[in-house]
Amino acid sequence: MNYDVLIIGAGPGGIFSAYELTKLNPNLKVAVFDAGHPLHKRHCPIDGDKIKSCIGCNICSIMNGFGGAGAFSDGKYNITNDFGGTLYEYIGKKQALDLMHYVDEINLRYGGEGTKLYSTAGSKFKKLCLQNGLHLLDASVRHLGTDINYVVLENLYEHLKERVEFFFETPVESIRVVDGGYEITCAKGTFTCEKCIVSVGRSGSKWMETVCRDLKIQTKSNRVDIGVRVELPAEVFSHLTDELYESKILYRTQKYGDLVRTFCMNPRGAVVNENTNGIVTVNGHSYEDPAKQTENTNFALLVAKHFSEPFKDSNGYGESIARLSNMLGGGVMVQRFGDLIRGRRSTEHRMSDSFLTPTLNATAGDLSLVLPKRLLDGIIEMIYALDKIAPGTANDDTLLYGVEVKFYNMEVEVSDKLESRHKGLYIIGDGSGITHSLSHASASGVHVARDIAEKIAT
Ligand SMILES: Cc1cc2nc3c(=O)[nH]c(=O)nc-3n(C[C@H](O)[C@H](O)[C@H](O)COP(=O)(O)OP(=O)(O)OC[C@H]3O[C@@H](n4cnc5c(N)ncnc54)[C@H](O)[C@@H]3O)c2cc1C
Repeated sequence: MNYDVLIIGAGPGGIFSAYELTKLNPNLKVAVFDAGHPLHKRHCPIDGDKIKSCIGCNICSIMNGFGGAGAFSDGKYNITNDFGGTLYEYIGKKQALDLMHYVDEINLRYGGEGTKLYSTAGSKFKKLCLQNGLHLLDASVRHLGTDINYVVLENLYEHLKERVEFFFETPVESIRVVDGGYEITCAKGTFTCEKCIVSVGRSGSKWMETVCRDLKIQTKSNRVDIGVRVELPAEVFSHLTDELYESKILYRTQKYGDLVRTFCMNPRGAVVNENTNGIVTVNGHSYEDPAKQTENTNFALLVAKHFSEPFKDSNGYGESIARLSNMLGGGVMVQRFGDLIRGRRSTEHRMSDSFLTPTLNATAGDLSLVLPKRLLDGIIEMIYALDKIAPGTANDDTLLYGVEVKFYNMEVEVSDKLESRHKGLYIIGDGSGITHSLSHASASGVHVARDIAEKIAT
């Protein structure tokens, strides 16, 4: 075998697998392959000036490369079993939380020291939410911020590059079961290993499907979350964001009984484009450094859509809706809440009359031509519900960017060790469909590294 362990994907899952493996057994020969660039070479060409929207680079620097999809994220590590994935269903609630705390300690040691840990414990907002038909989920949130998150990644890379071999700009094409392990093929040749960790995230979801098909690994997929990103003056939510930073709030709509939730809240942040498999959707981030902060807060409002038999392509459904907005808006579309309610499109003129300055240059349009009525009704209902705990949410000038889609990778069949039916082949992070967040993906990496280190030692 060329290597003891090969890791595919250098996102949080892959990074924390490599970290823990080399810590537990420094003699292991480990290599990490990633389709994207090393951290210092990751640059999205959108500069808001010459290049205003996604030009579909061969390798997307936002989603791929050292640090994975989270590299330029807000660096919010949510320490909770209430959202961010279902890792606890495989490894138990206590173990999942312990691993997330362990990851947090490492992040602090590698540059995150001094960053804030927010908590919902004992918050007065729980009661306020309940009184208005809203439910605040429990969590502790470490907010690294985009800038400190980058520093932590730089430091982790400096530490790891002495201990493991990195192959960047090297997408793995296939995995084959061979005698005593696995053989992976890529443009740089074939490599063999005893154990293989696959951590390819959301951007590797299509490839993951082919791997599962080829290796006959069972999968299931039936959920997609669709909605908009809301942007409003930071003051409207400041009482919540100052105390909790991120509040995950759930609402059940009166009309259809659908679940709508807030997701990825970015106080004083910016709305950004996201490119998933060529489709431009919207996301958001914010900086810890006050000099880089904006006057707006943004968060997503997502409606969970679960499909029943015979329909199986939930992600395809989400993609079609995102494509519609791309078709009408040439990318992401933006609409004032007041225009949406009055049944008219937003125009450049109406946008320029607004009191709110958008942080993303998007095409003014009409989201009711893009989002199905049921989803749009749910979003509007929740905006009015949030207006009761944060008056001003339903103001005419509140901006809605569409569409935001939260694709769920198909869930892959793995054991409590996150090992597939093939012994020594582990599938972790967002690519496994089990995690959907930085903290859960990182924790899954530590979990498999410990199992491998123990097995190789015995
Ligand atoms: C803009 C943005 C903001 C976000 N903000 C937050 C946040 O604040 N908090 C939070 O908890 N989560 C956030 N997320 C989600 C979070 O980034 C992911 O949950 C997390 O990165 C998943 O980690 P992962 O290691 O499983 O996968 P990823 O981070 O997606 O990493 C997978 C890696 O695998 C590589 N890869 C894919 N296919 C192949 C292949 N065939 N061969 C080789 N390499 C391959 C990719 O290049 C990528 O680098 C955000 C995501 C985005 C896009």
